[in-house]
Amino acid sequence: MQFSDRLETVQVEACFDGPPPKKLYRNERSRQYTDWVLSGGRPIRDTGRHLQLVDLPDDACVAWQVDLSGAAARQDYRLALQWPNVFLGSGDLWFWRDDERRPIRVSVHLPAGYSISAPWKPFSDQDGVRSFRVDPTPASWSSRIAIGRFAITPLRIGGAELRVAVIRPSGPDGKAKLLDWITENAAGVAAVHGRFPQESPQVLVVPIGPRSEPVPWAHVIRGGGAAVELFVDETRTLQEFRFDWTAPHELSHLLLPLVSSRDRWLSEGLASYYQNVLRARDGRLTEEQAWQKLHAGFERGRKATHGATLAQATRSGRGATMRVYWSGAAMMLKADSRLRALSRGRWSLDSALGALAGCCLEPSRSWRAKELLEELDRLTGHGVFREVFEDHVQDRAFPDVGPIYGKLGLREESRSLKIVSGAPWGDIRQSIMGG
Ligand SMILES: [Zn+2]
Repeated sequence: MQFSDRLETVQVEACFDGPPPKKLYRNERSRQYTDWVLSGGRPIRDTGRHLQLVDLPDDACVAWQVDLSGAAARQDYRLALQWPNVFLGSGDLWFWRDDERRPIRVSVHLPAGYSISAPWKPFSDQDGVRSFRVDPTPASWSSRIAIGRFAITPLRIGGAELRVAVIRPSGPDGKAKLLDWITENAAGVAAVHGRFPQESPQVLVVPIGPRSEPVPWAHVIRGGGAAVELFVDETRTLQEFRFDWTAPHELSHLLLPLVSSRDRWLSEGLASYYQNVLRARDGRLTEEQAWQKLHAGFERGRKATHGATLAQATRSGRGATMRVYWSGAAMMLKADSRLRALSRGRWSLDSALGALAGCCLEPSRSWRAKELLEELDRLTGHGVFREVFEDHVQDRAFPDVGPIYGKLGLREESRSLKIVSGAPWGDIRQSIMGG
């Protein structure tokens, strides 16, 4: 693939070993910004949402050109954005691929002085051509790719190399501040079980100027490899970034493989639990503040519980965010506490995730919650994960954390949570927030 000097267009040539696929998957808006599609020097009719490939011989190549500036002019950040010397967009706008999970090797020609931030694994960089391997994930999983005048900073943390790109200017010391912030949060996630859970994730940091929060939008993406994208208000201080919950939340998602969106309570619950636990473990929050924040989350979840089961609420979409996220977090607290108690400290949610990383984080599959929780029970030899699943997924009420609070030594007083000494699981309470 080749980008034009000012990133107005990209030309892609895809060559297949053996029979070409029947179609190439792409963004639903791609056709609108496609300048041409050719194979063997002849135009291909391009009419559908995806590109249909008929009657191509074995080992055929297909080439196309996409108008990047045209797509960016739409000003839809999910599709594409462009600033001087930087283009950022959904990978499937121009990186069209089949769904046959075949090994894909990508070679990219960039204008001089430019970099590319992609989820793919880099393996060579010669004469201005950068080569990557793409994880064989389903074609429908999206990715985010940035090209431009920025540096990729490798951060070696917990046995992994995070490939961090801050793709826009971020003011004096801005980049150092943002890298410090990513480093601290990645180290927190790596400390959960001793290794950062993904070998070489892409981390895309997009400064967008003054906003009402330090990180107005962020998400984890898995197409072609694991990635985190964070839109940030780069004018904020390091202190504000450190206190923010978003980076520990997003990076904690990488502790699990992709969980089906029908079971979002599990992935979001785990990330919502750890966003507080991790900030307590490295001293950004006191133990009491972290419990208070978890409790406040549970209260928001309880107030947003209106008679639907957790499974129904998860399927119902946006309005149920608080119910879904904090029910999942309450379930993680229950499972973590019980597992520590039953195993007398031998196991915890942390070490269960460590065991899971040893067997089950392959990048190309997604899991239903039930099978993932059964796997955690198998690995730990206890039944606590299955138990929270059975107790709460079909329940119309918010998970009752009262009995667990009592054992851990947490007491609700008006609107806050107090730590009381001498509780039977007081050491478990301390080890959850102490690591
Ligand atoms: Zn999340």
